[in-house]
Amino acid sequence: MPWGNIVRPDKISQPAGIYIHIPFCLKKCPYCNFFSTPDLSLKESYIKALFHEIDHYNGCLLSFDTIYFGGGTPSLLSAVEISSILKKLFKHFKIQKDTEITMEINPGTAGAKNLQGYIASGINRINIGVQSFQDKYLGFLGRIHSARDACMALISAKNAGFSNIGMDLIYGLTDQSLKDWENDLQKALSFHPEHLSCYMLSYERKTPFYQARQNGHILPPDVDE
Ligand code: SF4
Repeated sequence: MPWGNIVRPDKISQPAGIYIHIPFCLKKCPYCNFFSTPDLSLKESYIKALFHEIDHYNGCLLSFDTIYFGGGTPSLLSAVEISSILKKLFKHFKIQKDTEITMEINPGTAGAKNLQGYIASGINRINIGVQSFQDKYLGFLGRIHSARDACMALISAKNAGFSNIGMDLIYGLTDQSLKDWENDLQKALSFHPEHLSCYMLSYERKTPFYQARQNGHILPPDVDE
């Protein structure tokens, strides 16, 4: 049994959630310590391994009411690949009707066509990693997309038919004034997202930003600010 001495999932009465980590990014952002690789040639074997893992839990008695594709950059997977993973999950697990199925989207990897494909494959909620609406901060964060890409992704997502759209923003950036941050918030709200997650930039060990902060090359904002 894969469960060992942990509470048996069939004894849990509440619906659970499935999280799928897609471990690929075109380029590593210097503040990020989530696992990812730029080697997209591993996609096929990763999906095979994921299917193997799903098979391993076949017969699980839990029911699920959320599925979340996080990363990494899930939008490096095609709609066909996402669809095949969802089909596999629906085949092996008890997935409730009206399950919320979320996918994280990097604005640098999601064109209008991809977004249409994702909604057709069953994704009903997306979370767009905007991070900032200002190119100078996106450059600072080492993001692969521009502010315009982020706006286009938000517009394309609405046009594709998504009615549950979240976005992520990061604040507390070097040289970011309160006014800059307020502008980002205003811009974000102008898209009327269903959800907005705001993260203060953190300096995770073993990242280039952590090192740069230790060396004094990056200065976080003043504590009062
Ligand atoms: S795109 Fe996201 S997961 Fe990938 S390196 Fe950047 S912050 Fe990390």
